[in-house]
This record gives sequence, C-alpha cells and structure tokens, in this order.
Amino acid sequence: ELEPEPDRWELAAETDCLAAMVVFNRPLDSVYSYLVPDDLREIIAPGQRVRVPFGRGDQLTLGYCVGVTTTVPTHRKLKTLHEILDREPLLSGAMLDLTKWIGERYLSSWGQVLDSVIPAGVKKQAGTRQIVTFELPPDLDLAQLKIPAKQRAVLEVLQQSSAPLTVDVLAERAGCGSSPIDSLRRKGLIVPRRGRSEVAQADVIEVEKQSDLQLNAEQQTALISILEALREQRHETLLLHGVTGSGKTEVYIQAIREVVSYGRQAIVLVPEISLTPQTIRRFRARFPSVAVLHSHLSDADRHWHWQQIAEGKVQVVVGARSAIFAPVPQLGLIVIDEEHEATFKQNSTPRYHARDVARERARRENVPLVLGSATPTLESLQRARLGLDRLLTLKQRVERRPLPHVTLVDTRNDPLISKGQAIGRALGQGIAHALRERGQVILFLNLRGFSPVLWCPRCSGIRCPDCDVTLTWHKDKGLLLCHSCEYSIAPPERCEKCGLPGLRFLGTGTQRLEAEVRTKFPTARLLRMDSDSMRAPGSHDEALESFREGRVDLLLGTQMIAKGLDFPNVTLVGVIDADTLLHQPELRSAERTFQLISQVAGRTGRGDREGRVLVQTMSPMEPVIQFAARHDYDSFAERELEHRAATHSPPFSLMARLILRSLTESSVQAESRRIAGILRQTTAEKNLGVRILGPAPALITKLRKYYRYHLQFTAENHAAIQELWRDAAPRFQLHPDVEMTIDMDPLDL
Ligand code: ADP
Ligand code: ZN
Repeated sequence: ELEPEPDRWELAAETDCLAAMVVFNRPLDSVYSYLVPDDLREIIAPGQRVRVPFGRGDQLTLGYCVGVTTTVPTHRKLKTLHEILDREPLLSGAMLDLTKWIGERYLSSWGQVLDSVIPAGVKKQAGTRQIVTFELPPDLDLAQLKIPAKQRAVLEVLQQSSAPLTVDVLAERAGCGSSPIDSLRRKGLIVPRRGRSEVAQADVIEVEKQSDLQLNAEQQTALISILEALREQRHETLLLHGVTGSGKTEVYIQAIREVVSYGRQAIVLVPEISLTPQTIRRFRARFPSVAVLHSHLSDADRHWHWQQIAEGKVQVVVGARSAIFAPVPQLGLIVIDEEHEATFKQNSTPRYHARDVARERARRENVPLVLGSATPTLESLQRARLGLDRLLTLKQRVERRPLPHVTLVDTRNDPLISKGQAIGRALGQGIAHALRERGQVILFLNLRGFSPVLWCPRCSGIRCPDCDVTLTWHKDKGLLLCHSCEYSIAPPERCEKCGLPGLRFLGTGTQRLEAEVRTKFPTARLLRMDSDSMRAPGSHDEALESFREGRVDLLLGTQMIAKGLDFPNVTLVGVIDADTLLHQPELRSAERTFQLISQVAGRTGRGDREGRVLVQTMSPMEPVIQFAARHDYDSFAERELEHRAATHSPPFSLMARLILRSLTESSVQAESRRIAGILRQTTAEKNLGVRILGPAPALITKLRKYYRYHLQFTAENHAAIQELWRDAAPRFQLHPDVEMTIDMDPLDL
C-alpha cells in the first residue's frame, strides 16, 4: 500500500496498540490512523500537531492529531507516527469537536479548519514577548524645549513614570496617538529600549474604572431575559434588536458582569472596524482583565493572549471574527455586536460565519448567545419569528433622545447634481447651516478615489485588462487604479480602443468629494477617511480622535465612518448617493441599503443636540429608502421577507455557491458544464432535492486575470447540500487549469 487508506472502523478490533487519528490540511480529506510508538504513548494527545509519513514516497507531513484509540483497524498494517510537535494540545477536546462541525457545515476538511483556526503565532509558539519601551535621554531639559503640546505631554508622562513605557501606554496616558511619539523618537528626545516582558501592554494601561449605569426599563427587561438563561445554564440565542444609541452595549456589559461573578469568561465579537480605543476603553473601564484580539496583533502577542486566555486569566475577550475560537476554559456567554455585519463571514476556506459558529459553540457549551443589532439580518429575525430564538427589543434611544430626522432629497432635478457635482443644493445649504451653528458634519460616500469612470463618448468606460471593472481615477497619485487588483496606468490622452480624444472623468469618489467640499466650504476643517488616506497603522484611531476632540469640522469617507462611532456633536449626516448599493443585482442589495442608511443616520443626534440626516437619492419613491428614512425596520423586514419567501431565497432556503475559475475561459466554461452535470445527476439519483442553477458567468466575470463561472445550490437544509457535496465532489477530477471554491451560506450571490 502506498497511501494510508481512510479508516474502516467496522474492521477494527481492540488491541494493545495505540493509534493516533490524524487529519491533514488538504481539501476533502478523511481521518487517517497511525501507530503510536512506545516512547510517545505517554505524550500523545488530541489537539497536538504531529509529523507522519503520508502520500507517495511517505513524505513526512504535518498533521493534526484529533483522537487517540486502542481500537485499531486490523485489516492492514499501520504506518508509524514519527514526531509530536507540541508539548501541550493546542485545542481542547470541545474545540476540536467544534472544528469538526465547522468542516462538515462549510464543506471543508477538518484539517483545513484546524489549520485556519489555530493562529500562526500559536503554531510557531512565538516566543517570549519582545517589546520596545521608551525612556528620556539623560539630562533632558524639558523647560528649554520648543515642541508641540502633544509631544510635551508625552515627555511629561515619561518624566513622572518610574519605568520606561511602551508606545501604547504612553499614548494612552498622554492622550495622544502614536505620531507625537514617533516625532520625539526621530528627534532623539526619547530613547527606545528593547526588552522582554511577560506582561501584556494591555494590562499596564490604566483605565479609569467606571461603575455600571442605571438601566432604563427596556434595557432592564432585556437584561433580565439574558440573566434567566445564564442562571439556568442553558443555551438560548437572544436577538437584541435595539435602535442605534439604545444602550445595547450597556446591556451586554451588565450581563457579562454576572458571567464574571460566576468565575466564567465571556467572548464579545465586534466588527474589526469597531475595535476602536473608545470601544476597548468601555470594556476595560468595567472589567479588570480584558483581552483584545485585533487582526494586526504580532505573532508573539497573539500567542501570549492565547495562553493567558487558556489559563483563565482573562475575563472578557473582545475581538473580531476569529475571537470566536478564543480558548476560554469556562465559557459563560457569547455576544455578537452588529450581528448584521458581513465581516463576520470569512472570505477564505473555511468560509465560516462567526455568528453560526458562535451559535454552535454556545449550544455545545450550554451558554446563551446574544446577537445585537439595530438592523438584524433577515436570517436572525426569521429565527426569532419562528420562536427558535428570543427577540428582545429596545425601541427608544437612551434618555429618550429622539432618533434623527431623515430627509430624502430628490436629486433628479437638482441643478448642481446635473452639472456633475456631488453635493446638491439642499445638502449644501444643510452643511452651511450646521457649520454656522458649530455642529460637526459627516458625509458618507461609498467609493474611494477621485472618479470611478474615465469615459470615452464612443466606447464607454476604460476597464482593467485583468478584471471586469472600470478603472478609478486617483488624482493624488495621477493614476487610474483597479480596485480589484493592483493594476494601474497613467490616464491615456485618447481612448485606446477608438483613438478618440476628449475622455472625461465621470462620477464622484471620496477624493473628488473632498475637492468639492474644499471649494464650497473653504474655511471648514476637513478630514477624509478611506482606505487610501488611512494606510498608516494607527491613523484610523487618530483621525477619529481628532474629530471627537473637535479639531475637525467635517468628516467625509467610505463605510469606514458609517459604523458604530459615537460623536455627540454631530448635527448633520449627509448621504451623497443612496442608490449605489440598491441597484446592484444582489440578493441582499435592499437589506444592505437599509442597513447602511440606518447605520449612517445613527451617527447623529447622540448627544444633547438634535441631529439631521439628508439622504440624496434619485429614487426617493423606492420603498427601502423610504423605510430607512422613517426608521421603520419592521415594515422593511415585512416586505423583504415576503419577497424572499416568494423567491425561495434565504432565510426560506439554504444556499451554497460553487465558483470555478481559470485563466482560460474555454476551460472554465467546459468544466463548469461538466461538473453541473455530475451534480445534477447525483441529486437526482439520491433524491436530495437540491436545486442547481447555472453554470453562469459570475457577476464580475474576470477578476485578476481569472475567468469565473458559478453554480448555485438551493435546498431546504444544510444536510442535503452536504450530502450532495460529499458524494459528488470526489468524482469531479477537475482539469488542472481550473480551480474551485465552495461557499456555504454565501453572502455575495
Ligand atoms: P448602542 O450600543 O445601542 O448603540 P450604547 O450602549 O453605545 O448604545 O449607548 C449609547 C450611549 O448611551 C452611551 O454613551 C452609553 O454610555 C449611554 N447609555 C447607555 N445606557 C444608558 C443608561 N441606562 N443611562 C444613561 N446612559 C446610558
Ligand atoms: Zn484589475
């Protein structure tokens, strides 16, 4: 035998031997057995990584031990395990089981899930923390220095400190971002020292402790429901539907208070973009030990946090999607804030949705799951309507602050918009008024760059040669950029296809909007936030800080500014174009439009001052936009659910999407037709009742040089699709030119 075969346990018998069950990071793989040599018998445990002979030529290959057994297949000789890489298991038994479930649910292999879920830093056992601290140079005369106030504040913090401090601690204590510290370092006014530390920076940061707020009646009712589930130690999913500013976070915090009092731990998932210092401070102010898992943690930090969490030294884990795998020893509660955010779904294998993984983990560990949102997904809402989950509602903003008044501005006949400007007459007047009254303004536009289309009157827009999208003009760089790949060119004088001169830039991105605001409101202090202007690490936090402190009057940007920010002095929010999302041919375009308008509108009226929202649209009669303007989630959901039911789309059915791609269009066309045949035959033979649509070209057919075709599966339940896939996929024998990806519960269709 060249390859170890998948196990056939029916042929197995109890023996004196010990076998390790091992999985590999390969697609569609099964569990393999290896004999454990005597000297490793005492050490081997599920959750460790091992090296074993595998495949042709018995190459030593890394795998994950997922079980140990004395019941060993007898029909053939087993190969022997070669080496154990970890002293301790990297995952507990419960987490191993969860990863197995993820593999089955999302149609990837157990090994692929394990490889993705265990952080690189943990696998590498990334070493003791190497940290940099700063101290003052000897004989520095602070009084003599001429430096900006922020830098002075940093030096004063250091002067008062008995020990050198890290950047984070310095910034926190001096109340600044990282740039004053960088400047001081460049000038040699502070001196870096390298060292090792066992203490996370996080634990050194001192946050002023706060006591819990007195909840209002609605909050109290919601909290009681969560506490009931907690006290009865049972799993229940509670959907906390509360308008923006209704005090959802305060409810989470007080529920966590109870969890912590039992000596258990809580996991709080928030979208990466909401992991702002403000959010973190809110949790740190209430709980002694909070771990924050950013995506940009160093390997060493991640490893350190992982260990602290596993040892039970952390009460609350706050993090983005992957924090759902935090190895807390005694889980008490999981909270997902802004559960509607698409970033909870992973975009690479395994394509899991953190909300569904959280539900499964909470179910297995008998703890409640709280999902919070002002605009719950229709999936979550429908579960609550069916009585599977419990709906809790907060209808009022705290302290009865009114929801902002939203006005739809019909831009179809606006003279300025017709001239190609982005800010129409009404919005322009609104901005002028808000600025005059010393309020702050947020302008939202979901497109970065200067202008999305370079237009030839004859051939239409200039497109990326590698992708099926128009190139966006980035005036600051002097380049046309593709937003899907790295492609860029200088704008041609003449159309490359027809040779005609007179190309025009059409449409508005954030850069063009910035230029327009500068012309129209020359004295306003302006800040643009998009992924181009916020490249540098920390710049995002710093920008928000300067807006909060009132050093900026007008903040404009992409969805980066739409989420979860809390600025009391914002009196006007302008949505430049509500229609962009709505007219996409996507299942969720209405839902996303509603969510986005609600989220953006929620950024105003959060303080004592009343807030207004002006939404520019060319389709003011569109029901979704009208519902959003009236803050009428229920009517929106009613209508949209009817539509989904009529079209048998989620949440009334389940979907999966198979994407095939190739550099050669003919290969991908032929292969997707052939594979569709296999799938249709399988579902018919086994009577699985899976509906298969396609193959059809994907919405963006060409992406990064690859031609993409897709197939859609629709079924009543996951099991049907899982069975179809398990049966059919091993028979595909895909042409080597073609790659495929399967996406269960896809968000983009
Ligand atoms: P949400 O998460 O629903 O958007 P938050 O929890 O952020 O709402 O609450 C909005 C603001 O109201 C925060 O500044 C919070 O401190 C404050 N707040 C929350 N609950 C109360 C309460 N019961 N009494 C007074 N202020 C509250
Ligand atoms: Zn491209």
